[in-house]
Amino acid sequence: MARYIFVTGGVVSSLGKGLSSASLAYLLKSQGYKVRLRKMDPYLNVDPGTMSPFQHGEVFVTDDGAETDLDLGHYERFTNISSKQSDNITTGRIYSDVIKKERKGGYLGKTVQVIPHITNRIKEFIKKDITNEDFVICEIGGTVGDIESLPFVEAIRQFSNEHGKSKTLFIHLTFVPFLKSSDEIKTKPTQHSVKELRSIGIQPDIIICRSQQSIPLDQRKKISLFCNVPIDNVIETVDVRTIYEAPISFYNQKLDKQVLKFFKLKPKKRPNLNPWKKITKIVLKTKKFVNIAIIGKYVNLKDAYKSLDEALVHGGIANNVKVNLVRIESDNLKNNEIKSKLKNVSGLLIPGGFGKRGTEGKISAIRFARENKIPFLGICFGMQMAIVEFARNKLKINKAGSTELDKKCYPVIGLINEWDKDGKIIKGTDKDLGGTMRLGLYEAKLRNNSAINRIYKSNSIKERHRHRYEVNNKLKNQFENKGLIFSGMSPDNKLPEIIELQNHPWFIGVQFHPEFKSRPLAPHPLFSSFIKASKNHK
Ligand code: GLN
Repeated sequence: MARYIFVTGGVVSSLGKGLSSASLAYLLKSQGYKVRLRKMDPYLNVDPGTMSPFQHGEVFVTDDGAETDLDLGHYERFTNISSKQSDNITTGRIYSDVIKKERKGGYLGKTVQVIPHITNRIKEFIKKDITNEDFVICEIGGTVGDIESLPFVEAIRQFSNEHGKSKTLFIHLTFVPFLKSSDEIKTKPTQHSVKELRSIGIQPDIIICRSQQSIPLDQRKKISLFCNVPIDNVIETVDVRTIYEAPISFYNQKLDKQVLKFFKLKPKKRPNLNPWKKITKIVLKTKKFVNIAIIGKYVNLKDAYKSLDEALVHGGIANNVKVNLVRIESDNLKNNEIKSKLKNVSGLLIPGGFGKRGTEGKISAIRFARENKIPFLGICFGMQMAIVEFARNKLKINKAGSTELDKKCYPVIGLINEWDKDGKIIKGTDKDLGGTMRLGLYEAKLRNNSAINRIYKSNSIKERHRHRYEVNNKLKNQFENKGLIFSGMSPDNKLPEIIELQNHPWFIGVQFHPEFKSRPLAPHPLFSSFIKASKNHK
């Protein structure tokens, strides 16, 4: 049976449970163990697919098409292990499953209750689809003491009781503040947080203490004493300079060693931290930078384009430059401001998006990049807007648009049946917004000798999608005659997946989201190439 590591958080949120879990997973994986990471989210949404980036950051998409919490993105980026649908669960999904079963008479008329029915369902999720993994790291969202996360905490308590301490380990991440006025590090919030955890039946085995500065031995001893944890299992994590330092820092603090010791295991091989050291150095030391403009609705929100921000940094790492993001809010972007806003930028990126607000500004910016030969990358909505721009200004179809934004437009972008009378809607209807998109991994065939073919060094790729609308393929020849070629198509040759402009240094639009597959230790070729072109611009 796999060993289960449960990660809870206390004191405050945003302490970096995801990063800690991901770093531990990397360390265990690089010592020869098979690892799986999971996230349990205590909100009532059935999945994060319909949640606003304003509240919840980006929606991460897996190969198998799950719309998940962005922490799964951290997991993938750090471990290079592809997450699956079964790696993220929310309270909403758990309740929805239980209620569905109840409606079908699945509980034989019994009273359906949080304990045992909800907790049983949670325990089923924890073990679901686990085969030969050595470790399953399960992160519990929220903070201990929240009403919302109680059923999850109760379920992991039961799980540990059922499977025994040799198979389950509890890690609790807390905050250890430094009080300037008294020049002291304070352990009391940690003590309280652990007390809270113990009151619901969980004694942590390892405490990770997030702190702005190193925690002196005396304070660590105090935490060990009051929280009933061996001193070696009080692990500190001091703020790192870049997230890529986290695996190195946890290794130095012996987190992985203590975990293996707990399970009476030895490393199968030496962990390799050199790649992290190398990229940490690049990120911290590089002086050269390149300005990339990103125009979107949520550009000023920290996590709204998390994977994209990361993928751009990775592209920078591949080219030894720092990527400086020039974030431009699309909402009130006026046509006459575009020139000045894009004055010092060497590349323009229009990311994925939904809805009408701010689209005209994006379209004008794309025109500017096209005409002024500024490297341009359009992702999903960004590609769709590039098609609209080209149709209006080069094919002279004045009413060209996307039916998502204007039902009366000439649909250069639309639901398939809106531009193809035989086309089937492959994505449900708008009535139920949850899970009605083309989601997850789809293949694209790349045209020989195209730019994209050279970038990927392959004729066939698979990338992750998340959209309802598609480029109208009926105008393919018209676009291509004017120099915008459809260099990537779905295998049945129906859906344009990639467009690129000839006679332009770098102008590419993709219907998918390459950012989900970029890794710090393996930057995505599209981002490496985009940053390279931007670096060479001017
Ligand atoms: N709104 C567009 C669609 O649904 C694009 C989505 C996206 O950019 N992810 O097709």
